[in-house]
Amino acid sequence: MTEKIFYEDPYKKEIDSIIVDIVDNKVILDKTIFYPQAAGEPGDTGFIENYKVIDTQKQGDTIFHILEQKPNLKKGQKVKCRINWERRYRLMKMHTASHLLLNVCQLIFGKNIRVTGSNIDEHKSRIDLDYKPIIDQEKRQELENKCNEFIKKNLEMKIWWDPERIGYRWTKIDDLNQIPCGGLHIKNLGEIKKFRIIRRLSKGKGKQRLEFEAI
Ligand SMILES: [Zn+2]
Repeated sequence: MTEKIFYEDPYKKEIDSIIVDIVDNKVILDKTIFYPQAAGEPGDTGFIENYKVIDTQKQGDTIFHILEQKPNLKKGQKVKCRINWERRYRLMKMHTASHLLLNVCQLIFGKNIRVTGSNIDEHKSRIDLDYKPIIDQEKRQELENKCNEFIKKNLEMKIWWDPERIGYRWTKIDDLNQIPCGGLHIKNLGEIKKFRIIRRLSKGKGKQRLEFEAI
């Protein structure tokens, strides 16, 4: 089991860890700041010593740091780990903005609107909604304006573990609807300097996709 330092402090950029095991080009550490890929969110990249980490994946409670090449490192060795912070910070902002956009969709279109999927990318992200009425240009502007209003207010993102369900985590922006999520978020919406909805795409059968960016 890898200790998940990214949950204690998602802003931590560097850490010293101990190598627990190495399988080919995959390194397992005692504790890590590298977030592993999970539901729509990509895994972290960065460096372990001078070896490039090209992806991070998990299997159960074990996190695998995938290196560009098989490393000349040993079990038990202490190593310096550094994430690609610029990329991670963008992903944290994009991901937090996906919560904000869903919250605002619920405010404007009603609580029953459902997300059927999402994809977070450092350049462009998206959420897929199960909602029939077409979200036209006027509605998209309304959504975008409301999101930007909350960003300007610098609303806080609250995060807590469910006391009754082990490993289940909740998030809530200010007093908006709470959303279960195991991802990484920024502390305050004001960290987002620019938010915009890029476009809407029809996904058929009453489903539509909103593409957005938050930087
Ligand atoms: Zn989240």
